Amino acid sequence: MDNKGIQKGSSQKILVVEDNQDNRELVVKVLKINGYQVIEAVDGEEALEKTKTEKPDLILMDLFIPKIDGYEVTRRLKRDRDLRSIPVIALTAHAMKGDMEVALAAGCDGYIPKPIDVRELPKQIEYFLKHNP
Ligand code: MN
Repeated sequence: MDNKGIQKGSSQKILVVEDNQDNRELVVKVLKINGYQVIEAVDGEEALEKTKTEKPDLILMDLFIPKIDGYEVTRRLKRDRDLRSIPVIALTAHAMKGDMEVALAAGCDGYIPKPIDVRELPKQIEYFLKHNP
């Protein structure tokens, strides 16, 4: 991509963990349009592997994924010295207020409500990249 470092989001790498293909494709498309590099994982094992090998700048984490759920993946990442600084943003259903609390307790750094608002998503990502604790 041209204008690296100038264009918004360029060269920053986002790992999208989502087992629902439609949701995943939507999020990936929006992120790519906004200049991010995108990696995808469809279950918890793949999420852990790709976090280790790709060292993304941010992880979008669906909490309900096969093999290892998003809560447990987040707990494991936050116990890992090398990986704990990567912000993990949970993708949570609007109605499930309890999920957000459990997500934050598991170590998620924030959450983005589902269904995804395609106009808000890039702003939300930008916010979480800037306010990485
Ligand atoms: Mn899911």
